[in-house]
Amino acid sequence: PSSECISSAHANIRVVVRIRPQNSREHGDNSRVVVEAVDHQMLVFDQEEKVEEFFFRGVQQKGRDFLKKSHKNMHFMFDKVFPPQATTAEVFQETTLSLIDSLMDGRNCSVFAYGATGAGKTYTMTGTQETPGITFLTMKELFKRCEELKTTRDFKLNITYLEVYNELVKDLLKPGAPLNLREDSRFGVMVAGIEVCKIECADDLFRLLEEGNKNRTQHPTDANAESSRSHAVFQVYIQMTIKTSQEIRTAKLSMIDLAGSERGSATNYVGARFTEGANINKSLLALGNCINSLADGLRHVPYRDSKLTRLLKDSLGGNCQTVMIANVSPSSLSYEDTYNTLKYASRAK
Ligand code: ADP
Ligand code: MG
Repeated sequence: PSSECISSAHANIRVVVRIRPQNSREHGDNSRVVVEAVDHQMLVFDQEEKVEEFFFRGVQQKGRDFLKKSHKNMHFMFDKVFPPQATTAEVFQETTLSLIDSLMDGRNCSVFAYGATGAGKTYTMTGTQETPGITFLTMKELFKRCEELKTTRDFKLNITYLEVYNELVKDLLKPGAPLNLREDSRFGVMVAGIEVCKIECADDLFRLLEEGNKNRTQHPTDANAESSRSHAVFQVYIQMTIKTSQEIRTAKLSMIDLAGSERGSATNYVGARFTEGANINKSLLALGNCINSLADGLRHVPYRDSKLTRLLKDSLGGNCQTVMIANVSPSSLSYEDTYNTLKYASRAK
């Protein structure tokens, strides 16, 4: 068995993989587990190789082709691998909790959930009332920190929630015509005319996220009725006034539930739907290219190549902190998607 180790270790970009539990369909006879955590940083992907073998059965019988499958194990290294039994609270502890310190220092931070439809992106980011996602848990921690620091600092927290769909920016909290990007002297890239909500506690937030999610653009497709074709971008604008010096410090936290990374096959998409597929790939590709350029220390980062990367221009690179959470199903039923996700994530090192 051959193995390939790809390590992801860039200081400002952390790449983690979350393997979700199998669902009831995947527990069936026609599937098997193809991704397993080896330890807290390594996973093994069971790669199927089709080997054709030619057998002769006696003299009278003609040669028959047999398709025999053999498996070789491919190892991948990430900053962290979360096995199926890991809870969202554990994912939070190991990924976004440490971002709070950076935000307090006035550094912008971004968190991405990447993966195919059904891999667990929304479960990880938004979650449910019973198992709140890392957006909620991070905000709760942020409120806690603000409370702790309030004797020395004044805080103002504003949030926006939008989607990038078909290379258009749409407000999820106040649906209407597509919005344009603009530059703000204090907060950098902003969306002109977007609904900005002041929030006082983490519970306000959950209601807003749920409301916003109802406004997400979704289309039932043949492949998957719940397929989500848009990137959902939740942003928090933090303004801190240091009481002694009256110095104003700002930071922005962006948490993004990316569109499904599965490849829409051309035959399933006609007309408008086909354009969607092209645009989704464009944004995901552009994001990958930006992250790769940053990780390689290149001077030119192609932010302008898509709406998503233009929007996040000042939240990627520089002294910003980025966390990429790659979500995968452990099942052979998602073999192709999982392999593509692992490749995308290990390139983002
Ligand atoms: P995506 O947003 O990537 O399309 P979802 O987050 O909607 O995927 O997850 C698909 C299904 O799997 C949902 O029913 C979700 O509740 C479930 N699921 C995903 N991740 C987990 C997990 N870690 N534990 C339990 N259920 C999960
Ligand atoms: Mg989703």
